[in-house]
Amino acid sequence: MGRALLGVAGRPVGHSRSPAMHNAALAEMGLDWLYVPLPLPERLFGPVVAALGRSGFRGLNVTVPHKLAALELADRRSPAATAIGAANTLTLADGGVHAENTDAAGFLDALEEDPRGMRALVLGAGGAARAVAWALSGAGADVAVLNRTPERSEALARDLGVRHARAPEPADLLVNCTTVGLGAADDALAALGVEAMEPPAIAVDLVYGDAPSTLLAWAERGGARVVDGLEVLVRQGALSLERWTGARPSLATMRRAARHG
Ligand code: NAP
Repeated sequence: MGRALLGVAGRPVGHSRSPAMHNAALAEMGLDWLYVPLPLPERLFGPVVAALGRSGFRGLNVTVPHKLAALELADRRSPAATAIGAANTLTLADGGVHAENTDAAGFLDALEEDPRGMRALVLGAGGAARAVAWALSGAGADVAVLNRTPERSEALARDLGVRHARAPEPADLLVNCTTVGLGAADDALAALGVEAMEPPAIAVDLVYGDAPSTLLAWAERGGARVVDGLEVLVRQGALSLERWTGARPSLATMRRAARHG
């Protein structure tokens, strides 16, 4: 049996910090495994995943645009992945594929505070917003979802049993789950519709880059505690790696590699 392999499938994945983060953790755990980027167009995702299971791959992280396809091709699905309607983690074992969603639990881990009873405003209505709204609602927060295209946030709210917001509303916890964030500073707040809002007590931005996002800079100026997207990436990755290896990786090592490569 050759070296065990893991990977991240998406398009694009060239910018992904996951290979550096996972390879650093695997080396520290003393495992001779390798985690590789797998840039795949949509039409190749299913056939390639089927072949990877026969080629030494033990698991995959899955990102845009394959999270829905990942859920659909699996033979077994976790309750979180089923409820969210998307999978970011596939485990390949015994000829089968098990789909999970660690974005939800990873987000709650990154929050490092019990959100029970908090008023949470989730921005966005894509896969990330579904995972975060599901996680927060399950943890007892009062969740409202606001999106540029209200039909999508209405559908999300209906599916997950959370509230739909037509305009920004006061919140203890604000989470950006849109792709808006790193560009021109003033435009981002306007695009998110939050420029006139009171900054929340806690702000989380799933978008990450080398500098703090516009939203987090604004929230921090207003006194908020902020959690950046790299921390959420680290936490969801740690949960995936624990699932594949059966051992708990060092968060500090993963964080360092995610930030500095
Ligand atoms: P997605 O399904 O493509 O959803 C994108 C969302 O962004 C939609 O709600 C969309 O609104 C909104 N949006 C896009 N452009 C906008 C604009 N100019 N103004 C206002 N809203 C805009 O993406 P996703 O998979 O949910 O991911 C969202 C972000 O989270 C991505 O940046 C992803 O990298 C990040 N993410 C990070 C982590 C992590 O671990 N840190 C995990 C998962 C995702 P419409 O519905 O109106 O189009």
